Amino acid sequence: MTILVLGSGAVGVATAWYLNKAGQDVEVVERQPEAALETSWGNGGVIHASEVEPWSQPGMPRKIIGWLGKESAPLLLRYGAIPHMWRWGLDFSRNCTPEKFRTNAAANLNLALHSLKSLQEIASEAGITYDRATRGVLKIYRSIASLDSAQRSSDFLAQHGLLYERVDVERCVALEPALRETQATLAGALYFARDEVGDCHKFTQGLATACAKRGVRFRYGETVQSVETAGGHVVGVVTDKGRLSADTVVVAMGSFTSPLLAKLGIRIPIYPVKGISITFPRGAWNSAPQMPVIDDSKLFGLVPIGDRMRISGSAEISGYDTIPATSRAAAIVENASFTFPEMKRHLDLSKARVWAGLRPVSPAGTPIIGRTRVRGLWVNAGHGHLGWTLACGSGRVAADLITGRNPGIQVPAPQGAVIATAA
Ligand SMILES: Cc1cc2nc3c(=O)[nH]c(=O)nc-3n(C[C@H](O)[C@H](O)[C@H](O)COP(=O)(O)OP(=O)(O)OC[C@H]3O[C@@H](n4cnc5c(N)ncnc54)[C@H](O)[C@@H]3O)c2cc1C
Repeated sequence: MTILVLGSGAVGVATAWYLNKAGQDVEVVERQPEAALETSWGNGGVIHASEVEPWSQPGMPRKIIGWLGKESAPLLLRYGAIPHMWRWGLDFSRNCTPEKFRTNAAANLNLALHSLKSLQEIASEAGITYDRATRGVLKIYRSIASLDSAQRSSDFLAQHGLLYERVDVERCVALEPALRETQATLAGALYFARDEVGDCHKFTQGLATACAKRGVRFRYGETVQSVETAGGHVVGVVTDKGRLSADTVVVAMGSFTSPLLAKLGIRIPIYPVKGISITFPRGAWNSAPQMPVIDDSKLFGLVPIGDRMRISGSAEISGYDTIPATSRAAAIVENASFTFPEMKRHLDLSKARVWAGLRPVSPAGTPIIGRTRVRGLWVNAGHGHLGWTLACGSGRVAADLITGRNPGIQVPAPQGAVIATAA
């Protein structure tokens, strides 16, 4: 019988690919006219094992309360969102102990390394081009204290397979000459040689095409309204176009996974956290960075993707709307211009695409992959700020679990109503 995958972002399409490879008959239902038009469209583009630390970390709840209502805060919780997400907030706070933070970061790293390998295998097997670049990632710091603290976290992750190097300002500039102008403000950097860059939208569309060639069917422009069950087993879904039968359904709808399953009384704790990216042609900016730079104190990433540059950042808890707040987009441009003063001369906002997407964030900061109490109903969602990094590995793990195979890595712990990870 057909397996339905709901959602064709990076996570849903990777799930469809691996289910098809496992010999299953797969159909994908997607409300947009093509794959990867929502959060998987304009993300920062970095495939980063270096960024696996969850946002639920020691000290974060206090910081978020201190930032309440402040328009320029790195993570802005809007008052209007609080009544809808207090339970998620409590779960988030419970995950902010040092022990849980370390466990969750290590789980993400494990999956990120599995994912990077899977992504490379898929890209070469399916011949997908997606503006891949393999120069690593440079994370820059402006105080020794913040650099030391980041190094402590990377030292812990290094025990689980993260590769990194601490570099002084001189080597920073040697690695990325575009930092020369502001080198006096830097304290140093961490360099992650194994991190990569790629266009998530291009990859996901390429993978959807490859899936279709292998027989996966895509129902674009069709919105899932509810999941149907009978006798404790899933039997299909209802869409705006009719009813589809299936005995296995995988919900990979990012932030929209929770409201869909809430209709069945199944609680999946994922809340949308809005982020912004600004993409513009590199054009005549010949001295633009060649490698992705993540600025820890100014909280943005500037990433070359093919012939474009993309700045991304901002985290705003304000519900499900995807309109980029002008003030927050302007702050990202301002911060990036501080680090790269040349940029302003080349960034013409009228030619740039200012975009916002909803990071599907779970309280533990790890994805939710597993089955629910309804037999045959699976979830693969909640990848937060790491969905491009974790998509291929998560798709592979989900397909392994669904088809009763051992994924070969430890699956992140279940959250909410995901009760088990075995078929
Ligand atoms: C500003 C920003 C920067 C980021 N940078 C990075 C980065 O550098 N590296 C990284 O690893 N990650 C990054 N991320 C995170 C990453 O983009 C997400 O985690 C990832 O895209 C989530 O993929 P997904 O497939 O789960 O969700 P989505 O891409 O949102 O896919 C879900 C799909 O479900 C569909 N859908 C929803 N509801 C329905 C319905 N009712 N019926 C049918 N279809 C439905 C949607 O149309 C969508 O196509 C960033 C995110 C943001 C916002």
